[in-house]
Amino acid sequence: MLLKLHVWRRSLYLKRNCNDISARLKAAKRLPFVGKTRIIFSWFLDGFSNHPGAMSVFPGLIVLNAEWAARLILIDDVDVKNAFRFTVGHEMMHQLGDYTFWETFTKDKRFVNWVGEVHADYGGSKLAFEGRVEEAILAVRYKAKELKIDRDSQGHWSLIRIIHLIL
Ligand SMILES: [Zn+2]
Repeated sequence: MLLKLHVWRRSLYLKRNCNDISARLKAAKRLPFVGKTRIIFSWFLDGFSNHPGAMSVFPGLIVLNAEWAARLILIDDVDVKNAFRFTVGHEMMHQLGDYTFWETFTKDKRFVNWVGEVHADYGGSKLAFEGRVEEAILAVRYKAKELKIDRDSQGHWSLIRIIHLIL
């Protein structure tokens, strides 16, 4: 319900049609590389945000925020589809077992988290695009541009750095 409300609100802003919400999300979730992992869209992840977001802290479950749903329904062009594919690939890599280091502000935290993110970005792009480098790069550019912030921090490296790795 709240998810639909977000999509409807964004449809007014983007001046796009918001028909067939459930069917379109179901179709978007059909990715060949997710196996048995469940993918859900939830307003409860960052529901007020107009930036796409995702998380994967529970085994077997990837959660995408309402803005991802809105973009897949309302925009649904090649950029959005590729960026979504890359995002799910990234989260699938987290499913394979890296972890987040919660201890505050030490060099170790930054090191461990960056290794996890590099693993997820690099592995995720391979999983999602199977060597189609141009598509992977476009997906990274879109995601980096649309994230709330894209810069190096304790938890994440700047996404745009991955481009140097995949090239
Ligand atoms: Zn990550």
